[in-house]
Amino acid sequence: MKTGDFLLYMTLKGRELMSEQEQEVGTRWLAQAGLRPTRQRVTLASLLVGDGQDRHVTAESLFEAAKGQGEAVSLATVYNTLRAFCDAGLLQEVTVDGSKSYFDTNTHDHPHFFWEDDSKLTDAPSEQLVIAQLPDAPEGAEIASVDVVIRLRRKS
Ligand SMILES: [Zn+2]
Repeated sequence: MKTGDFLLYMTLKGRELMSEQEQEVGTRWLAQAGLRPTRQRVTLASLLVGDGQDRHVTAESLFEAAKGQGEAVSLATVYNTLRAFCDAGLLQEVTVDGSKSYFDTNTHDHPHFFWEDDSKLTDAPSEQLVIAQLPDAPEGAEIASVDVVIRLRRKS
């Protein structure tokens, strides 16, 4: 198989991976937030929630997945679309190190593990988390939210 043929094969195979049903789930997900289902949005939405699993993506990882579906989309568009999904309440953004942004399809409050060795974010068991006491908010302020990110590294 020549390289070109192989790439075409991979693209077609990638297209097959996303079923019509997954696209329907993606379209419904957009509709519940009142977002117009453009083709690019449907592709990204289907990659995010089409299989019904919660996931944590970065703009880069979703961009790679979209390319795998043969979608001609730029990284900037993926990033802006993720922001729009956040603004619509479909995703929550989890920031690690103040710069790395992860986008989570589970919008309920829950703690995360951050795997330092692979820069991966996964859910931590909520039922094991107990926050006994928080510092009082300073005068004139209230606590908007508490993010719990537990950083993991491999045991040496
Ligand atoms: Zn999560």
